[in-house]
Amino acid sequence: MQRDAPVRFKPRFDPDQWQWILRFLQACNGSDKLRSVAALLPLSLYSQRLIHDLVDKDGFEFDYRQNGKLIIHRQRRSFEAARTLLQKHRELSEFQQALDRDACLALEPSLLRIAERIAGGLHTASEEAGDCYKLCQELAERLARGPSPVCFRLGEAASGFEVAGGGVRAVITSGGPIRGDACVIAGGAEVGRLLAPLGIRVPVYPLKGYSISLPINDPAGVPEASITDYQRKIVYARLGNRLRVAGMADIVGFGEGLNGTRIDTLLRATRETFGAGVDLSTVTSWAGLRPATPTGRPVVDRSPIPNLWLNIGHGALGFTLASGCGRLISDKIAGRQCAIPSAEFELARTAPSGRRMLRRH
Ligand SMILES: Cc1cc2nc3c(=O)[nH]c(=O)nc-3n(C[C@H](O)[C@H](O)[C@H](O)COP(=O)(O)OP(=O)(O)OC[C@H]3O[C@@H](n4cnc5c(N)ncnc54)[C@H](O)[C@@H]3O)c2cc1C
Repeated sequence: MQRDAPVRFKPRFDPDQWQWILRFLQACNGSDKLRSVAALLPLSLYSQRLIHDLVDKDGFEFDYRQNGKLIIHRQRRSFEAARTLLQKHRELSEFQQALDRDACLALEPSLLRIAERIAGGLHTASEEAGDCYKLCQELAERLARGPSPVCFRLGEAASGFEVAGGGVRAVITSGGPIRGDACVIAGGAEVGRLLAPLGIRVPVYPLKGYSISLPINDPAGVPEASITDYQRKIVYARLGNRLRVAGMADIVGFGEGLNGTRIDTLLRATRETFGAGVDLSTVTSWAGLRPATPTGRPVVDRSPIPNLWLNIGHGALGFTLASGCGRLISDKIAGRQCAIPSAEFELARTAPSGRRMLRRH
């Protein structure tokens, strides 16, 4: 209800929106949460290993940094809850460490401006950051001039499929049909509309988010680690000589237009937190749609049509999971063994169980 709330909901006459919200509420329980975390953690680590290969073996440059991440809590209660969860799940403490206010400031002196408002934080030293746009550009360039050159037909819209003999024969696009043996759909938030005429329903709905990027004019005034402001759900990450600030989840439909109020909220938070380190007069704003499933798990699977494959629903983690999901889907198409368990990413498993966890006394 507040103008600067991290989540905003605008009801629409759209059955998909209501169905998605109902399923999301069904997924809001301890058992579904743990199920998703257990599936996503190995996928994230696998993706990270593949990204390391791109950096170390193939020399990709995309402002990649191994800088760690600190999640700061402004409320004591939420910090204590996070710390207790960490203590309960020993497997997490291998990656994360709870820090009190002084330790947060020692790690990240640029937080001094809001020192009094920090209750504590969780630090993950193994977290990394990079510019996904730069990575995509470099990847596209190398693929286009590789041994089997890839042809990118950007700007063409796919409107449907030519189906015959129980399989997809071609994708119909504004630039003409594209024929092939297999087809992978990775169509972001719009994917439901593309698949509906084939009778394939996927639980993907857009969660709109915003980011601003600002030039850094004093490196000491901005964080070295990526910072998540837990209460405000705002993330600050240093990318090259810019600070990228992202946040918000608006359940408002498919429009990608910028919302001035949301950008102002990001700008205000940046001014208050790291205003000393950035040029607040030169701001680049962006809005995007996170293609989200109710459980937070992507779908990386064969569709009911045997040669039509799905790599969709990565929600807030599309960059984090991209390389792992890319490898999983190519292994599945080629009939190779997948390197990590992938059953939780099957289309048949998208429904939340809705089970509350039983408390052990
Ligand atoms: C503010 C914000 C911050 C984020 N921060 C992070 C982060 O820090 N880390 C992270 O891992 N993820 C982050 N994400 C999430 C990430 O951006 C998404 O998960 C990711 O973009 C999803 O990738 P995708 O390829 O599935 O969909 P998209 O990126 O939406 O791409 C889908 C593509 O398909 C095209 N398309 C759709 N329909 C058609 C059609 N009919 N014909 C032709 N083309 C079509 C679209 O034009 C688009 O180019 C963030 C998202 C937002 C909004």
